[in-house]
Amino acid sequence: MSKKHGSVCKLCRREGEKLFLKGQRCFTPKCAYERRGFPPGEHGRDSQYRRRRASDYQRQLREKQKTRRIYGVSEKQFRRYYRTALKRRGLTSEILLQMLERRLDNVVYRLGYAESRAQARQLVTHGHFNVNNRRTDIPSMLVRPGDQIEVREGSRTRSYFSDLEAAAETRNVPQWLNRDLPNLAGSVIQNPERRDVDASLNEQLIIEFYSR
Ligand code: SF4
Repeated sequence: MSKKHGSVCKLCRREGEKLFLKGQRCFTPKCAYERRGFPPGEHGRDSQYRRRRASDYQRQLREKQKTRRIYGVSEKQFRRYYRTALKRRGLTSEILLQMLERRLDNVVYRLGYAESRAQARQLVTHGHFNVNNRRTDIPSMLVRPGDQIEVREGSRTRSYFSDLEAAAETRNVPQWLNRDLPNLAGSVIQNPERRDVDASLNEQLIIEFYSR
């Protein structure tokens, strides 16, 4: 995704809900949305009270933007996922979510090896992970059932990974993944299903946005 300047917390305030982009901080009173739950900008506080009923287009656009921001994907890439999903057999909306979930950065985050998707993306880019015994530094890589993901041998001694076990233990792993915490590894059991994805997302609105 193109580099974001300024706080990502503005994205939560813009969308009017918590997107959990900053790991542990999102669960503390320091969360910017908890402190300033109105849109950013000079007139943000006023617009909170003057909100008009959103049009269909606005609702579709906001849902697409929200989903894109949660997964940290650029508009170009997001649209590419949509086009690919459209060509596949099955429900386009579900296939789209499945592709987002199967991204390597999301998998590292879901396994609990990063606090946020942004951090997972950075860890992958810096080459700390192997997929099927090969060093992989592409966060957008889509994993498949049977794939093995692990922290590389040379990275395990880093303080970040050696201190990770206690924090990762507190994180739930979705059913489509298997975590091997002592070995800082994990595997893909099956493709994710709708129940494995954030229930608050309304993928149908995204499809409506792109099929206008
Ligand atoms: Fe959003 Fe997290 Fe920032 Fe709160 S702390 S505004 S949930 S990114």
